[in-house]
Amino acid sequence: MHGANMSNAFRLEEREGSIALLTFDLPDKKVNTLSRAVLGELAQIIKELEGRSDLRGLLFQSGKPGQFIAGADLNEIGAMAFASKEQIGQAIDFGHGIFRRLSHLPFPTAGLIDGNSMGGGTELILSLDYRIASNAAHTKIALPEVKIGVIPGWGGTQRLTRLIGLNAIDMICGGEPVDAKKALALGLVFDVVPAEKLVEEGMRLLEYSQSSGEWKRLREARSKPLGLSIDQATFAFATAEGYIKGKTKGQYPAPLAALRAIQKGANVPLEEGLKVEKEAALEVMGSPISANLVGIFFMNNRLSRDPGVDNTSLQPEAVQRVGVVGAGLMGAGIATAHARSGIPTAIVDVDEDRIAGGMKRAEEVINARIKIGRATPQDMAAMLEHLSTSTRQATLAEADVVVEAITENEQAKVATYKELAQHLKPGAILASNTSTISITRMAESAPDPSRFIGMHFFYPVDRMELVEVIRGAKTSDQTVVTIVALAKKIRKTPIVVQDCAGFLVNRVLFPYMNEALLLLQEGVPMDTIDAVATKFGMPMGPIALHDLVGLDTAFYAGQVLAHAYPDRAVPVPILGELAQSGQLGQKTGSGFRKHGGKRPEPNPAFEAILEKHKTGNPPTDAETIQYRLFLPMLLEATRVVEEKIVREPADADMGLIFGIGFPPFRGGILRWCDTEGADKIVERLKGFESLGKRFEPTETLKQHAQTGERFYPIPKLS
Ligand code: NAD
Repeated sequence: MHGANMSNAFRLEEREGSIALLTFDLPDKKVNTLSRAVLGELAQIIKELEGRSDLRGLLFQSGKPGQFIAGADLNEIGAMAFASKEQIGQAIDFGHGIFRRLSHLPFPTAGLIDGNSMGGGTELILSLDYRIASNAAHTKIALPEVKIGVIPGWGGTQRLTRLIGLNAIDMICGGEPVDAKKALALGLVFDVVPAEKLVEEGMRLLEYSQSSGEWKRLREARSKPLGLSIDQATFAFATAEGYIKGKTKGQYPAPLAALRAIQKGANVPLEEGLKVEKEAALEVMGSPISANLVGIFFMNNRLSRDPGVDNTSLQPEAVQRVGVVGAGLMGAGIATAHARSGIPTAIVDVDEDRIAGGMKRAEEVINARIKIGRATPQDMAAMLEHLSTSTRQATLAEADVVVEAITENEQAKVATYKELAQHLKPGAILASNTSTISITRMAESAPDPSRFIGMHFFYPVDRMELVEVIRGAKTSDQTVVTIVALAKKIRKTPIVVQDCAGFLVNRVLFPYMNEALLLLQEGVPMDTIDAVATKFGMPMGPIALHDLVGLDTAFYAGQVLAHAYPDRAVPVPILGELAQSGQLGQKTGSGFRKHGGKRPEPNPAFEAILEKHKTGNPPTDAETIQYRLFLPMLLEATRVVEEKIVREPADADMGLIFGIGFPPFRGGILRWCDTEGADKIVERLKGFESLGKRFEPTETLKQHAQTGERFYPIPKLS
């Protein structure tokens, strides 16, 4: 070995047979990312290699075992989301230039992939002649750019299509990773071998390519148009477009921009295709939607690392056994979630019938997953093996954490805690799944208030990722850290909030739900209200949501919240009256609408109730209705931040995205405020002054409007 060259991020060495081995290993970092500085270094090395006519080939690998390239640098992605078109254009040209030169080196080249190859990393290896992947499960190749609202802009849309044909549409427009086996089947990699054989196989491949001259033919072919027949292309692109439009409802432009780049670029020479790619990338990069999705990406990252408290020295306690009290709708789901993650879980309910009902629900969850191919009969067996049931609390004596999910009745819950105190081992954590009762108050009846906490799951537990972790006044940091870690272990996303009526999600949801009913009372048709909300991006409208959650539940929760926040809650008699009539929504077959047919229909009984209470003078334009619905939600979210119910604005936004399906492309309700501009929001609120306190700007909003401050500062390009 000779001629070793040390740069910061790269190591260049020479192997036998005049093969250069370039190793990417960012110092002091867990993963390799492609920042501008790193790309600059790479450009230097390429320059050196361009003059090395003595070399017979180049192998490119990562110096981090099991970690290939995680993609572009996170800070630069953040800043790029707010960059000008000119800056973005330059960044695209910069990448195109480097990868173009890499693809023109005067000898064959191969990438050796062990671990994740994401985004820019994948574009880098696409500019090489060959790719070989390790057969390890951690090896995944992806172009996930559409997930942050952009498209691969360093040649990915053009080079991948030239390599794997129309299969590129799926990979690029869907953004999902492929494993080594799939990559081989697609022709994305030349071979799959054990990680320790990568260099050896790479050398052999380059040697073969040199002697056969294959690399020259490959380069020639890949610089040309793909040569799709008109029929092939028309059909494939039309199908993909229809599918994407159905899935994104016109709210996520990136997959369509990527599709256009692939389509327009496929039948022109590569160099022209790269221009097409740049044009399409400029349409979506730096747009508010991309900034919002990048924001979510960062918020998700933060949440996944957040221990739940500011004291990062605390370690979670081991949770070896869990108990769940109450085998109802929620209890069964909560127990299943733990058992599925391999934690021995005991369920307690009052009688065998209830327990049998709970077990049936638990099995239904797994059966439903088996049906769609997401679980196997073995998973069912494993889950059942981890579940035990009893009617006696004494069986919870070994549990490290007990989650109480009995009927929503404070007296019954408190009585249960007193009873549990006789059975739980010292140091066990008691968590309540209550939706509406004060954690601080109930803690006083718990065996140890410092080890009492809210663990609020959402229905249906198997599909809802969010868990609100609610701190009572006396809950210890240690308890929080342990419950946050447990929630993550069962693959949920915990968000820590302070105790208050409605906690985070229901508190912020309520003003929106209530406003929808007020609009209905004023005479806005319910279909219009729901349509405005879904057009905004909500998964369903607020009237439909009422019927889904049940009008008794909505009414009861509404009472609790109205009592807690009387200054801004306006009574809506239509809800109480409808609920009292026994029409509780989907579960009884009728509520605001009639259910059971092909699609929900008007409910004449509700129309009669509405007639009695109609106040008249309804707003008619969609914009006013939209702001009427979402401004009360925004105002409540700003209060939640002001009162420090959440630790960060991001917690409020992520809570709403996970908890109620607030549209991710808007980045959360507070980010929506930033995008609209606090000054414009305050101006809007003036127009609703006559509606009273619930449309009064909060201090934070007024301050943001005056100073230009934002909930999320704009990151700067360094
Ligand atoms: P549910 O009526 O379906 O189930 C409650 C179960 O608790 C019943 O099986 C009942 O027999 C059992 N139970 C009652 N007293 C008991 C006791 N002393 N010991 C053992 N078991 C007892 O109710 P649910 O919808 O599952 O709600 C349970 C809790 O979860 C409530 O606090 C509710 O507010 C909360 N919650 C409900 C939802 C939801 O959408 N249903 C969502 C989040 C939180």
